[in-house]
Amino acid sequence: MDRQLLSKILAQMRKNLKEGKAIGDMKVGALLALGHQLEAIFYYLGHELGTTLKVKQVKDVSQIPNELKEIISQFNLGEIDITEATDEIIELNMKDHSSIKDLIKKGIKTSGSFCSFEAGLLAGIVEKLSDRHCFAQEVGCSLQTGENHCTFMVVFQKD
Ligand SMILES: [Zn+2]
Repeated sequence: MDRQLLSKILAQMRKNLKEGKAIGDMKVGALLALGHQLEAIFYYLGHELGTTLKVKQVKDVSQIPNELKEIISQFNLGEIDITEATDEIIELNMKDHSSIKDLIKKGIKTSGSFCSFEAGLLAGIVEKLSDRHCFAQEVGCSLQTGENHCTFMVVFQKD
């Protein structure tokens, strides 16, 4: 799933709708950006779960990394290490999460991003923490890289 492309198409759809223009072709583009159905469904599920974890909005965006870490640990969702946090993106490494727990170190290789459930989950949680629309993408999966963690990027949506 190409979240960045999807986000751009959605913004364009919103603009067109407001101006009374058609969005027919864009729906097809959005569908392609969604990629594999299962990946999109897992993202959706993770996102739904993330938004139901009773997460409180933080007063200051600088509190997001610590709060995020706390929530991930509190719900036993894995272990995260935040490598970059700005007011535009959060990049982090995650390990021991459910999507790969039983697959890692078994010689299984995948192509593309595999942990879309966690990507959706992270987006949902950060959305609740920040009260801003976010999308997240797995940029490096351990099943591909052979590392002991997967890398995710959460991006705050610009209006
Ligand atoms: Zn992964």
